[in-house]
Amino acid sequence: MKLFTIGPVEMYPHTLKRGGEPIPYFRTQEFSDLMIETECLLKRFVGTKETSRTIFLTASGTAAMEAAVMNCIDKDEKVLVISGGSFGKRFDEICRTHALQYDAIELGFGESLTPERLDGYDAKGYSSLLVNLHETSTGQLYDAAMLSSFCKRNRMSFIVDAIGSFLCDPYHMDQFGIDVTIFSSQKGLCLPPGISMVVLNEKILQDKVAHIDPKSIYFNFKTYITDMKRGQTPFTPAVGILIQLHDMLLEIEKEGLENRIKHVRTLCEDFRERIRSLPVSIPEYKLSNAVTPVIFQRDIAMDIFQALKNEYGMVVNPTGGAWKDRILRIAHVGALTVEDNRLLAERLRKFV
Ligand SMILES: *Cc1c(COP(=O)(O)O)cnc(C)c1O
Repeated sequence: MKLFTIGPVEMYPHTLKRGGEPIPYFRTQEFSDLMIETECLLKRFVGTKETSRTIFLTASGTAAMEAAVMNCIDKDEKVLVISGGSFGKRFDEICRTHALQYDAIELGFGESLTPERLDGYDAKGYSSLLVNLHETSTGQLYDAAMLSSFCKRNRMSFIVDAIGSFLCDPYHMDQFGIDVTIFSSQKGLCLPPGISMVVLNEKILQDKVAHIDPKSIYFNFKTYITDMKRGQTPFTPAVGILIQLHDMLLEIEKEGLENRIKHVRTLCEDFRERIRSLPVSIPEYKLSNAVTPVIFQRDIAMDIFQALKNEYGMVVNPTGGAWKDRILRIAHVGALTVEDNRLLAERLRKFV
């Protein structure tokens, strides 16, 4: 079985090896040291200062999205959501569930998020922006610089779900003026699902997290921040995944952050080149390196998904919703090679 999916992704042998080892007890100095080193490396790779704090949640990405909303947005704030696909809709649902006052900028199919779409939302009293920088359901990568200047001129908190983008596209939390970054173990980090992280800068910690009191025990960031000072989490974490995370970060440090992202970019460019001669198309908006949405001319996407999986053991990402039979998404993250791309493109050629 080979995964061309974005979460879980095809894992690296060193991660699989770690996964086969016994799980140690974690209320120890050794585990605390591992966590402190992990946090330090993560903050470096996400491009933020030492003074930022990381929350390690044992949960999938959606929990981190919801927890960020609960801990970083005041009840009386006006929130703006970019809703360009199923993950944007999830932020919309979270805001609705938590009875926040919010508006969503909804993008149509194939529509890119342009400065014009933000026109009309300036000086309207919004104080937080929620966005999935790479809307993984469509492959669109939004312009971080454009959103950053929008947030700056409106003095808004810039809250970014970078789950589909971190370690796949260049990302610089502080340079982009991002206050909150959310990401998960099963995407760019190429680990099993189960751990999600929220990185908070000093400003959001002081302005929001310090005084907001979420009605939740498990999702109260304040206890995580206190415990993380000594390298611990308030509740039993997915210890095994945290060990695999530490191992992965050391690997990325050795290999170089730029090279890790370059590997994803190389695979993505190679694949897009290989399918140019096929009767398929890709969207016109800017795409993340992480995924290539392949649009077929007929309603054959789900048939191809089944055939690739059942005949060749190659698993690609189906697309939810109305475009289910027209679009498949191919991920370029994880232990994949140009040779894997060649085989996949060759097999796709037979079906289109
Ligand atoms: C994968 C992903 C999530 C997380 O989904 P879970 O299934 O809860 O892990 C959230 N946002 C984006 C942009 C994603 O790609």
